Amino acid sequence: MKSSPYPAQDLRCRVLAWAVKLKVNPRVIRVQKMRRKWGSCSAAGTITLAVDLLDQDERFQDYVIVHELLHLRYAHHGRLFKALLSAHVPDGWRWENVSQREE
Ligand SMILES: [Zn+2]
Repeated sequence: MKSSPYPAQDLRCRVLAWAVKLKVNPRVIRVQKMRRKWGSCSAAGTITLAVDLLDQDERFQDYVIVHELLHLRYAHHGRLFKALLSAHVPDGWRWENVSQREE
């Protein structure tokens, strides 16, 4: 991927591309400083991603993005949630340890 002067913007574009793929509709996508989490999803449909996600591996970025977007459909990490997550991010299990920051 080309480097961009607006990396946070690129991250938001990735979220939108995944949202189309997953057929979910986030209302707001924010990229901001987060200390304890990589991402969060509010009941109102706001997806927030940690700005330092930009320094992480792209596959991990995808893992966090898909994880948060799936929360728009499933509030909890249930069977369907996990099935969809592993369908879209097949090596997602590799990132489970890294993603401890997330909930
Ligand atoms: Zn989660």
